[in-house]
Amino acid sequence: METLQFQAEVKQILDLMIHSLYSQKEIFLRELVSNGADALEKRRVGALENTELGFEGEGVIRISADKASKTISISDNGIGMTKAEVIKNIGTIAHSGTKAFLENAQKMKENPELIGQFGVGFYSAFIVADKVTLHTMRAGTSEGTVWQSSGDGTYSVDTLPRTEGAGTTITLHLKEFNDDDTAEDFTDEWVIRRIVRKYSDFLEWPIMMKVERKNPVLDADGKAIEGEYTTTENDETLNSRKALWRKTPAEVKPEEYAEFYKQVGRDWTDPLDTIHYKAEGTNQFSSLLFIPTNVPFDYNQRDARMGPSLYVKKVFISDNCQDLTPLWLRFIKGVIDSDDLPLNVSREILQKDRRLAAINKAVTGKLIRHFENLLKNDREKWTKIWNLFGSTIKEGIATDGSHRESIEKISLFKSSAQEDLTTLDEYVSRMKDGQKAIYFITGDSIEALKDSPYMESLVKKSYEVLFLTDAVDEWVTQHLTTFADKPVVSITKENLELNTEDEKKEAEKILKTKEADLKEITSSIQDSLQEYVKEVRLSDRLVDSPVCLVSGSWDSSARMERIMESMGQKAPKSKRILEINPTHPIFERMKSISAEQKKEWADILYNQALLSEGSPLKDPMKFARQVANLMTHN
Ligand code: ADP
Repeated sequence: METLQFQAEVKQILDLMIHSLYSQKEIFLRELVSNGADALEKRRVGALENTELGFEGEGVIRISADKASKTISISDNGIGMTKAEVIKNIGTIAHSGTKAFLENAQKMKENPELIGQFGVGFYSAFIVADKVTLHTMRAGTSEGTVWQSSGDGTYSVDTLPRTEGAGTTITLHLKEFNDDDTAEDFTDEWVIRRIVRKYSDFLEWPIMMKVERKNPVLDADGKAIEGEYTTTENDETLNSRKALWRKTPAEVKPEEYAEFYKQVGRDWTDPLDTIHYKAEGTNQFSSLLFIPTNVPFDYNQRDARMGPSLYVKKVFISDNCQDLTPLWLRFIKGVIDSDDLPLNVSREILQKDRRLAAINKAVTGKLIRHFENLLKNDREKWTKIWNLFGSTIKEGIATDGSHRESIEKISLFKSSAQEDLTTLDEYVSRMKDGQKAIYFITGDSIEALKDSPYMESLVKKSYEVLFLTDAVDEWVTQHLTTFADKPVVSITKENLELNTEDEKKEAEKILKTKEADLKEITSSIQDSLQEYVKEVRLSDRLVDSPVCLVSGSWDSSARMERIMESMGQKAPKSKRILEINPTHPIFERMKSISAEQKKEWADILYNQALLSEGSPLKDPMKFARQVANLMTHN
């Protein structure tokens, strides 16, 4: 037997493993099982060239645990190691993952939680064990090697025959975690099952465990005799091995997709849509993505779980990986499995990894193409998806400049022209001769918008108006300013110009004469309302209603202010402009009423304008009184 010193860097790693408080102890099992799977893979590939390396029986990873001696062992019949390989692979640090780990060692000393986010390979055994034994034999050789260490700076190596043949067995003698009441018993069958399901469920090699089952002994009447049992031992496969995403779509049945979705998406209904896609080339990954049939119940919560799960070569890395898709696709569920990312990498490093950004870009492009295709070929499904998640997708218009145009094209809108939702392209195709812009109005419901005074002049011209009723539309429309070279215009802002040049001249002439005629009235209204509005002016916007409030071109809309207030944010209050319909008989009548009444009427008109834009009244009781008063005296 030889006793050897660990390389200094290895000592450092072991030190961290042993002494750092460590919350995700369970990942040791993921690491050791992954090592076993790698070794099996190496043996399989090796056997293709050298048949001597071929498996005795099938490739398998076995876990066995013994409560009494507090040990758990993980064994594989993979490629195994020679003695020289053991010393090189386990005693020194030569691989990239460990280097990355060490480079961050100082950070982790300060913040031990970070360790859990590293793949730390073989040494992670020392997170849970105070003694580790590795017994291995390289396939194609006949000499076994045993390696042992207590993680204290030295290890021993010796030769020892391995009767079960080539492969590796790692036996951990588990530590006591007296001061940690969250520590689990890693010899417990159900703890082991849970961990395997969580991280290694989709590995293609079977992960097996012998499980003991107690069977009751029955008496002559078929009743269980208390306290008497027989025990049977079964070999059970703990993982489902169904990495559906690695198959080709033709190999997968719809029910399999649905079942898989329910598992990874934590949902009980079938998915609304499935996108199974493999990216080839420099950045290879397989993805199996789903769109839920229902909006998840916690969808709008700040801490909602979002984003697909990330796997690297079928090994689970993290769920709800938000860096895999842009925020406006946060309803997408499923799995993305990279061929290129290293297993041994922290989430922190991942976030900066170019390869992750490249996956994000590729997945986004794929989904946009998929959506475009649905819009063209399955409008019904696209409409369903849009009704569920359209308000999220639209956020991309405001937040994702590189995809803005594509998102604008697939977006659906409610419209004054038809019951069904419309695209902007379809809107443009319906534009009237002389119509200069795409018009929209934002508000809480179609019902309120349809009959609002702002619609009057557009209805008169038979211009279509988009009804934007999602809260997010207030932000979206700040970025959606043109489409297909047409300005996209709010009909509640000042300077709405629907007329042709000739009509405009005509209208201006009429307004001029009306202005002179109603000068006194306008200025008396202005005086009464100066606290609330910044200007009172005549306009030809209205047909039937006497007044409306409009926002300055650069001011936030009334609804934006309401939404911000409802979110507890301070809204920048901007006074609006009261526009007057000079053809309305009210103003002719106002000429002949007393100054006192003029004041009252101005007040009522202002409140009417507030009501029609959906804003709350400052003093509803007063308004009710004023109206009653009006009805009594006129
Ligand atoms: P990594 O797996 O990232 O290379 P590890 O610390 O887990 O780092 O393992 C170091 C090396 O030890 C591996 O690269 C491999 O060569 C060898 N090794 C570990 N476990 C096994 C195993 N079960 N069978 C064969 N070789 C193994």
